[in-house]
Amino acid sequence: MDYACPHCKRPVRADAAGLRCPACGKTYPIADGIPDFLGEDLARSADPELRRMRFIDRMARIYETPLWYPIVLKLFGGLRSPTPADLIRIAAADVRGVEGRVLDVACGPGTFGRRVASPLLAVFGIDVSMGMLRQGAAYAAQEGVSERFARARVEALPFEDAVFDAVLCCGSLHLFTDTLVALREIARVMKPHAVLSTFTFGAGRGGLLRFRRMREWYRRNHGLHVFDLSELEADLSLAGLSDFRPRLDGSILTFSARKGAAGEIYRSGACS
Ligand SMILES: [Zn+2]
Repeated sequence: MDYACPHCKRPVRADAAGLRCPACGKTYPIADGIPDFLGEDLARSADPELRRMRFIDRMARIYETPLWYPIVLKLFGGLRSPTPADLIRIAAADVRGVEGRVLDVACGPGTFGRRVASPLLAVFGIDVSMGMLRQGAAYAAQEGVSERFARARVEALPFEDAVFDAVLCCGSLHLFTDTLVALREIARVMKPHAVLSTFTFGAGRGGLLRFRRMREWYRRNHGLHVFDLSELEADLSLAGLSDFRPRLDGSILTFSARKGAAGEIYRSGACS
Protein backbone atom coordinates (compact mmCIF):
# COMPACT_ATOMS: atom_id res chain seq x y z
CA MET A 1 0.00 0.00 0.00
CA ASP A 2 1.22 3.47 -0.84
CA TYR A 3 0.98 6.50 1.37
CA ALA A 4 -1.50 9.25 0.58
CA CYS A 5 -1.17 13.01 0.77
CA PRO A 6 -2.25 14.07 4.29
CA HIS A 7 -3.90 17.18 2.82
CA CYS A 8 -5.93 15.90 -0.09
CA LYS A 9 -5.77 12.13 0.71
CA ARG A 10 -4.78 11.16 -2.86
CA PRO A 11 -1.96 8.61 -3.33
CA VAL A 12 1.53 10.12 -3.49
CA ARG A 13 4.26 9.05 -5.92
CA ALA A 14 7.99 8.71 -5.38
CA ASP A 15 10.22 11.14 -7.29
CA ALA A 16 13.73 12.53 -6.86
CA ALA A 17 12.67 14.90 -4.05
CA GLY A 18 10.78 12.28 -2.04
CA LEU A 19 7.05 11.69 -2.27
CA ARG A 20 4.96 14.00 -4.42
CA CYS A 21 1.22 14.46 -4.53
CA PRO A 22 0.14 14.69 -8.18
CA ALA A 23 -3.20 16.20 -7.14
CA CYS A 24 -2.14 19.15 -4.99
CA GLY A 25 1.57 19.33 -5.88
CA LYS A 26 2.90 19.08 -2.32
CA THR A 27 6.22 17.26 -1.86
CA TYR A 28 7.26 15.29 1.21
CA PRO A 29 10.93 14.48 1.82
CA ILE A 30 12.23 11.08 2.93
CA ALA A 31 14.97 10.98 5.58
CA ASP A 32 16.70 7.68 6.41
CA GLY A 33 13.90 5.84 4.66
CA ILE A 34 11.20 7.61 6.73
CA PRO A 35 8.76 9.85 4.82
CA ASP A 36 8.14 13.18 6.55
CA PHE A 37 4.54 14.32 6.06
CA LEU A 38 4.79 16.87 8.88
CA GLY A 39 7.71 18.93 7.65
CA GLU A 40 8.08 21.21 10.63
CA ASP A 41 10.38 21.69 13.57
CA LEU A 42 8.42 20.81 16.72
CA ALA A 43 10.14 23.51 18.81
CA ARG A 44 9.12 26.20 16.30
CA SER A 45 5.63 24.98 15.57
CA ALA A 46 2.76 27.43 15.97
CA ASP A 47 0.69 24.50 17.26
CA PRO A 48 0.90 24.03 21.05
CA GLU A 49 0.25 20.27 20.71
CA LEU A 50 3.37 19.89 18.57
CA ARG A 51 5.41 22.34 20.65
CA ARG A 52 4.73 20.28 23.79
CA MET A 53 6.37 17.33 22.00
CA ARG A 54 9.64 19.21 21.35
CA PHE A 55 11.67 17.18 23.88
CA ILE A 56 10.29 13.82 22.82
CA ASP A 57 13.10 13.07 20.33
CA ARG A 58 15.56 12.90 23.22
CA MET A 59 13.47 10.33 25.05
CA ALA A 60 13.60 7.76 22.27
CA ARG A 61 16.42 5.79 23.90
CA ILE A 62 14.80 5.47 27.33
CA TYR A 63 11.21 5.02 26.13
CA GLU A 64 11.26 1.22 26.26
CA THR A 65 13.44 0.97 29.38
CA PRO A 66 12.31 0.81 33.04
CA LEU A 67 12.99 4.56 33.21
CA TRP A 68 9.82 5.49 31.36
CA TYR A 69 6.56 3.51 31.16
CA PRO A 70 6.78 1.60 34.47
CA ILE A 71 7.32 4.89 36.32
CA VAL A 72 4.71 6.89 34.40
CA LEU A 73 2.06 4.19 34.80
CA LYS A 74 2.51 3.80 38.56
CA LEU A 75 2.90 7.52 39.25
CA PHE A 76 -0.11 8.70 37.26
CA GLY A 77 -2.24 5.57 37.27
CA GLY A 78 -1.51 4.12 40.71
CA LEU A 79 -0.01 0.94 42.07
CA ARG A 80 -2.64 -1.27 40.44
CA SER A 81 -1.85 0.03 36.96
CA PRO A 82 -1.10 -2.52 34.28
CA THR A 83 2.57 -3.06 33.49
CA PRO A 84 3.89 -2.29 29.99
CA ALA A 85 3.82 -6.05 29.30
CA ASP A 86 0.15 -6.17 30.40
CA LEU A 87 -0.71 -3.29 28.05
CA ILE A 88 1.03 -5.01 25.13
CA ARG A 89 -0.92 -8.22 25.89
CA ILE A 90 -4.22 -6.27 25.95
CA ALA A 91 -3.49 -4.59 22.60
CA ALA A 92 -2.38 -7.90 21.09
CA ALA A 93 -5.61 -9.55 22.31
CA ASP A 94 -7.70 -6.76 20.73
CA VAL A 95 -6.13 -7.38 17.31
CA ARG A 96 -5.83 -11.16 17.62
CA GLY A 97 -7.09 -12.85 14.47
CA VAL A 98 -7.02 -9.63 12.46
CA GLU A 99 -5.27 -9.95 9.11
CA GLY A 100 -4.30 -7.21 6.73
CA ARG A 101 -3.01 -3.83 7.94
CA VAL A 102 -2.78 -2.19 11.33
CA LEU A 103 -2.01 1.47 11.93
CA ASP A 104 -0.01 2.31 15.06
CA VAL A 105 -0.96 5.94 15.84
CA ALA A 106 1.67 8.00 17.68
CA CYS A 107 3.75 4.83 17.62
CA GLY A 108 6.88 6.13 19.37
CA PRO A 109 9.58 3.54 18.60
CA GLY A 110 6.88 1.02 17.60
CA THR A 111 6.46 -0.17 21.19
CA PHE A 112 3.06 -1.74 20.47
CA GLY A 113 3.10 -2.09 16.69
CA ARG A 114 6.31 -4.14 16.60
CA ARG A 115 4.76 -6.60 19.03
CA VAL A 116 1.69 -7.29 16.89
CA ALA A 117 3.41 -7.38 13.49
CA SER A 118 3.21 -10.73 11.72
CA PRO A 119 3.39 -12.07 8.18
CA LEU A 120 -0.41 -11.68 8.12
CA LEU A 121 -0.55 -8.23 9.72
CA ALA A 122 1.45 -5.38 8.19
CA VAL A 123 2.14 -2.52 10.61
CA PHE A 124 2.31 1.17 9.68
CA GLY A 125 3.54 3.45 12.46
CA ILE A 126 3.17 7.23 12.47
CA ASP A 127 4.56 9.70 14.99
CA VAL A 128 5.53 13.37 15.08
CA SER A 129 9.00 12.58 16.48
CA MET A 130 11.70 11.70 13.97
CA GLY A 131 13.90 10.56 16.90
CA MET A 132 11.28 8.01 17.97
CA LEU A 133 10.72 6.84 14.40
CA ARG A 134 14.46 6.34 13.79
CA GLN A 135 14.70 4.38 17.05
CA GLY A 136 11.70 2.29 15.99
CA ALA A 137 13.24 1.55 12.60
CA ALA A 138 16.47 0.48 14.35
CA TYR A 139 14.62 -1.83 16.78
CA ALA A 140 12.55 -3.31 13.97
CA ALA A 141 15.69 -4.02 11.92
CA GLN A 142 17.41 -5.68 14.92
CA GLU A 143 14.35 -7.80 15.63
CA GLY A 144 13.62 -8.69 12.01
CA VAL A 145 10.16 -7.14 12.37
CA SER A 146 8.63 -5.34 9.42
CA GLU A 147 6.97 -2.08 10.43
CA ARG A 148 6.86 0.91 8.11
CA PHE A 149 7.38 4.24 9.84
CA ALA A 150 6.35 7.72 8.68
CA ARG A 151 6.34 11.13 10.33
CA ALA A 152 2.79 12.44 10.50
CA ARG A 153 0.22 13.62 12.99
CA VAL A 154 -3.03 11.98 13.92
CA GLU A 155 -5.10 14.92 12.68
CA ALA A 156 -3.73 14.51 9.12
CA LEU A 157 -3.01 10.84 8.47
CA PRO A 158 -1.16 10.05 5.22
CA PHE A 159 -3.54 7.31 4.11
CA GLU A 160 -6.59 6.92 1.90
CA ASP A 161 -10.01 6.20 3.43
CA ALA A 162 -10.87 2.77 4.86
CA VAL A 163 -7.53 1.00 4.40
CA PHE A 164 -6.83 -0.39 7.91
CA ASP A 165 -8.20 -3.54 9.52
CA ALA A 166 -7.15 -2.37 12.99
CA VAL A 167 -5.70 0.71 14.69
CA LEU A 168 -3.59 0.92 17.84
CA CYS A 169 -3.50 4.19 19.75
CA CYS A 170 -1.50 3.32 22.85
CA GLY A 171 -0.35 6.01 25.25
CA SER A 172 -1.27 9.09 23.25
CA LEU A 173 -5.01 9.82 23.02
CA HIS A 174 -4.70 12.06 26.12
CA LEU A 175 -2.16 14.26 24.30
CA PHE A 176 -4.29 15.29 21.32
CA THR A 177 -5.73 18.80 21.51
CA ASP A 178 -9.11 17.82 20.09
CA THR A 179 -10.04 14.22 20.81
CA LEU A 180 -12.97 14.22 18.40
CA VAL A 181 -10.87 15.52 15.49
CA ALA A 182 -8.29 12.80 16.19
CA LEU A 183 -10.91 10.04 16.48
CA ARG A 184 -12.66 11.15 13.28
CA GLU A 185 -9.40 11.00 11.36
CA ILE A 186 -8.61 7.58 12.85
CA ALA A 187 -12.11 6.34 11.93
CA ARG A 188 -11.68 7.68 8.39
CA VAL A 189 -8.79 5.33 7.67
CA MET A 190 -10.48 2.29 9.30
CA LYS A 191 -12.40 -0.25 7.26
CA PRO A 192 -15.99 -0.95 8.37
CA HIS A 193 -15.92 -3.19 11.50
CA ALA A 194 -12.18 -2.58 12.03
CA VAL A 195 -11.12 -2.46 15.68
CA LEU A 196 -9.47 0.41 17.57
CA SER A 197 -7.38 -0.61 20.59
CA THR A 198 -6.33 2.14 22.97
CA PHE A 199 -4.67 2.77 26.27
CA THR A 200 -4.85 6.21 27.83
CA PHE A 201 -5.66 7.90 31.15
CA GLY A 202 -9.10 7.77 32.74
CA ALA A 203 -10.59 9.50 35.75
CA GLY A 204 -10.09 6.49 38.01
CA ARG A 205 -8.99 5.78 41.53
CA GLY A 206 -5.24 5.44 41.34
CA GLY A 207 -2.10 7.56 41.29
CA LEU A 208 -1.86 11.31 40.91
CA LEU A 209 -4.77 11.37 38.48
CA ARG A 210 -7.31 10.28 41.11
CA PHE A 211 -7.30 13.90 42.33
CA ARG A 212 -9.59 16.18 40.35
CA ARG A 213 -7.36 19.20 40.97
CA MET A 214 -4.35 17.30 39.70
CA ARG A 215 -6.24 16.35 36.51
CA GLU A 216 -7.24 19.99 36.01
CA TRP A 217 -3.69 21.19 36.61
CA TYR A 218 -2.25 18.75 34.04
CA ARG A 219 -4.92 19.72 31.54
CA ARG A 220 -4.23 23.43 31.98
CA ASN A 221 -0.44 23.25 32.07
CA HIS A 222 0.42 20.24 29.94
CA GLY A 223 -2.64 19.71 27.74
CA LEU A 224 -3.11 16.26 29.31
CA HIS A 225 -6.65 15.01 28.84
CA VAL A 226 -7.89 12.54 31.46
CA PHE A 227 -11.09 10.96 30.16
CA ASP A 228 -14.29 10.14 31.84
CA LEU A 229 -16.05 7.27 30.20
CA SER A 230 -19.29 8.98 29.18
CA GLU A 231 -17.44 11.87 27.52
CA LEU A 232 -15.20 9.46 25.64
CA GLU A 233 -18.07 7.24 24.54
CA ALA A 234 -19.85 10.33 23.15
CA ASP A 235 -16.78 11.33 21.13
CA LEU A 236 -16.32 7.78 19.84
CA SER A 237 -19.93 7.68 18.77
CA LEU A 238 -19.66 11.02 16.93
CA ALA A 239 -16.60 9.63 15.14
CA GLY A 240 -18.58 6.57 13.98
CA LEU A 241 -17.03 4.16 16.50
CA SER A 242 -19.22 1.90 18.61
CA ASP A 243 -19.03 -1.30 20.69
CA PHE A 244 -17.06 0.65 23.32
CA ARG A 245 -15.41 -1.75 25.78
CA PRO A 246 -13.59 0.17 28.50
CA ARG A 247 -11.61 -1.07 31.47
CA LEU A 248 -10.15 1.10 34.22
CA ASP A 249 -7.25 -0.17 36.32
CA GLY A 250 -6.39 2.60 38.75
CA SER A 251 -6.37 5.63 36.43
CA ILE A 252 -5.19 3.68 33.37
CA LEU A 253 -7.97 3.26 30.83
CA THR A 254 -7.80 0.57 28.18
CA PHE A 255 -10.61 0.19 25.65
CA SER A 256 -11.54 -1.16 22.29
CA ALA A 257 -14.18 0.13 19.87
CA ARG A 258 -15.26 -0.75 16.36
CA LYS A 259 -16.05 1.25 13.30
CA GLY A 260 -19.68 0.91 12.29
CA ALA A 261 -20.68 -0.12 8.79
CA ALA A 262 -20.99 2.75 6.28
CA GLY A 263 -24.74 3.09 6.81
CA GLU A 264 -24.36 3.34 10.57
CA ILE A 265 -21.82 6.15 10.22
CA TYR A 266 -24.10 7.98 7.85
CA ARG A 267 -26.93 7.80 10.39
CA SER A 268 -24.76 8.99 13.27
CA GLY A 269 -23.56 11.89 11.09
CA ALA A 270 -27.12 12.81 10.15
CA CYS A 271 -28.14 13.04 13.81
CA SER A 272 -25.27 15.23 14.98
ZN1 LIG B 1 -2.26 16.36 -2.09
